[in-house]
Amino acid sequence: DYQKTKENNPSKVEALHSPATFQWNEKHAEIATNGTKTGNWSSTRISIDSKNIKKGDLFVALKGRHFDGHDFLNEAFAKGAVAAIVSEPKNTNYPLVIVEDTLQALQHMASFCIKHILLDTKIIAVTGSVGKTTTKDMLHSTLSQFGVSHTNRGNFNNHIGLPLTILSAPRNCQYLVLEMGMSEKGEIQRLSDISKPDIAVITNIEHAHSANFHSLFDIARAKLEILYGIKPNGTIILNKDNQYYDYLSSQSYKSGFNVMSFGKHQNTCTIQLLNTTRNGTGLNFKVKLPNNKITNLYLKVFGEHFVYSALATIAVLEALKLELPQNVFEAFKIPNGRGNMHSIQYGDEHILLIDDSYNANPASMKAAIKSLDMHSDGRKVAILGDMLELGNERVKFHTELYDCVTKTNVDKVHTVGELMLELHNLLPEAKKGSHFNSSHQVVSNLSDIIQNNDIILVKGSRGMKMELIVKAILSV
Ligand code: ATP
Ligand code: MG
Repeated sequence: DYQKTKENNPSKVEALHSPATFQWNEKHAEIATNGTKTGNWSSTRISIDSKNIKKGDLFVALKGRHFDGHDFLNEAFAKGAVAAIVSEPKNTNYPLVIVEDTLQALQHMASFCIKHILLDTKIIAVTGSVGKTTTKDMLHSTLSQFGVSHTNRGNFNNHIGLPLTILSAPRNCQYLVLEMGMSEKGEIQRLSDISKPDIAVITNIEHAHSANFHSLFDIARAKLEILYGIKPNGTIILNKDNQYYDYLSSQSYKSGFNVMSFGKHQNTCTIQLLNTTRNGTGLNFKVKLPNNKITNLYLKVFGEHFVYSALATIAVLEALKLELPQNVFEAFKIPNGRGNMHSIQYGDEHILLIDDSYNANPASMKAAIKSLDMHSDGRKVAILGDMLELGNERVKFHTELYDCVTKTNVDKVHTVGELMLELHNLLPEAKKGSHFNSSHQVVSNLSDIIQNNDIILVKGSRGMKMELIVKAILSV
């Protein structure tokens, strides 16, 4: 379900383009793609979606499993495209750049941009199993306080979204923050190779999108492919509390990179978390910086996992030699569906909804349950949907949640889907809620499971459509 989400599919969403992007012409495109040009043109906007073409765009005709951009050439030109990059020159009346492979051409254009246009831009790559989008959003909101920063829209983190993000960066961009996702090995190498990061963050190594990997170690190895593209003398930033830290750091040192670490781990992290305490509707946390200075910070969120994104962000500032501003995280907003809180009028009272419907895997599920536990003043209710894409051990990952649920003060756990049924069957009677086959069924029975003053967490994998429950609760 990972590939199908709207956030993951750049062709479904119009990419963000700045008016100050590089102006491509037929000669640049020919050099960048090693293609053959016909006609003269210039364009500052590159688009792969004929439906969203604007006057003056350069259209790249990609071929997917279910579509072929070449079928939409006429539409693209009718809407105002000035030229197209194609591998099958069906209509030679249009200005074209003819290449062997249009996806590779898109990636080569992004490489060209990195090598020849964005020369003064600091490239910051973010990969890891969980928390990439959260961390890149925090980095972007923080770096924007220092200069022109650009980042991927939504979750554009793959072989198409990443080049599009690079191609949409303004020429005066000082910081380009690029999320890199993967669903199989080899992908991170390619993304890193295109982007040539100055700094790379690996948030953690966990079971996420792991169906294509034999083991967690295989996932660690695949994430470490990020080393392929990092510039000589570049820095890699690693989570020292993660079980793969020793492996990742030793390989990074061996490759000659600077290593910085963050976490709670003993007293030896570059960016050391000393403690976290609740304060009103957010978290105070104390951090020791490399100069031994201790600083107090605040994040207007619940959930210690957000603090880890903050630590990684502070490490990036340190690597860039930028001083940590006061109230640095004030501008940060949780990306949609990753734990956003909504207060909703319900009868004479309110309910608090925690929308974590974007996706789920064991690490983020546990983090979300612990975040729910941080709340007070209400009955804590979790509506949990199946975690998908977990391969052979999928049942174990669901039954293992028993520990997390029973060790916290969560009052009721409702479950959705056949894998969550395994958890439902184990739950102690006091915490056992209802079991549902689908999110539609939850929506039909919503009034039976919510009450005034509830604090409700909704979380599950994308394929479980938990956002339907969120929508229904928002409109009660
Ligand atoms: P994807 O692979 O889908 O791109 P991602 O790595 O970008 O995911 P996010 O979208 O930032 O991750 O977050 C996914 C979920 O994980 C959200 O529920 C979020 O709150 C949670 N999360 C974020 N950071 C962490 C973390 N460090 N540990 C556990 N859960 C986290
Ligand atoms: Mg993401």
